[in-house]
Amino acid sequence: MTLPPDYHMHTPLCRHATGAPSDYAAQALRLGLTEIGFSDHSPMRSDHFDDWRMRLDQLDDYVEAVCSTQREFPQLTIRLALEMDYLPGHEDWIRELTARYPWDYLIGSVHYVLGDWDVDNPAKQGKWKDMNPTEVWADYFDRLTKAAASGLFDYIGHADLPKKFGVFPTPECEVHYERFLRVAGEKQVPIELNTAGLRKDCHEIYPSQTFVRMAFKYGVPITFGSDAHAPEEVGFAFDQAIQAAREAGYTRYSRFAQRNRTEDSLLRP
Ligand code: ZN
Ligand code: FE
Ligand code: FE
Ligand code: ZN
Repeated sequence: MTLPPDYHMHTPLCRHATGAPSDYAAQALRLGLTEIGFSDHSPMRSDHFDDWRMRLDQLDDYVEAVCSTQREFPQLTIRLALEMDYLPGHEDWIRELTARYPWDYLIGSVHYVLGDWDVDNPAKQGKWKDMNPTEVWADYFDRLTKAAASGLFDYIGHADLPKKFGVFPTPECEVHYERFLRVAGEKQVPIELNTAGLRKDCHEIYPSQTFVRMAFKYGVPITFGSDAHAPEEVGFAFDQAIQAAREAGYTRYSRFAQRNRTEDSLLRP
């Protein structure tokens, strides 16, 4: 079977990934992938914003690293992308970055909730004990809805990320994520099946299978990503992610080139 592209891969420029982009590409070829995309954490206007992304003056180096990997692996389709942070008020910055290069796609991810808490940062995990999980999840899904509605992004990353350390959405949160899915369906903004969750304390794909099933009902398209921060994570557990998508009813996935979305069959031999 032709595997869907792995569209979520990082590079060492973000300061918490290892391995050269060419090692990621080589691993993709080994697994039989025909298409991948680099989507490293995009810079902020200020380099002091946090310490887990490339600096602004490294954006050119990033693009050059991806382009040189494209030249090195002509047998592999390699897309140029970014994983961008959606924070309310950052829209102008996102537009500025978007205009700088001919990106193939832009992932909209919510890592920051309730102001400036990067909810997936292991160094900030202790904050959970002071928090009401329902409030965290409500704010997270609210931001995710705004990200989908903004029209700024080609798809939405890891759509239930706050479960990373094992705090799952409460039943009261269901209305919030339904609202997100309704918007994503109306706007035809895909969500990704991100296998990194399987490597974390939550031990499941982002988003949960319940969420994937609901996404299918709302007509939300899908993409696939390993969120690889090391070459050996490329294509991680894609068999499981494909099975999850099919179980929910999906027969198609989305691909991107120059910010144009097309669909391909998940069932193609
Ligand atoms: Zn990362
Ligand atoms: Fe992320
Ligand atoms: Fe990522
Ligand atoms: Zn990510």
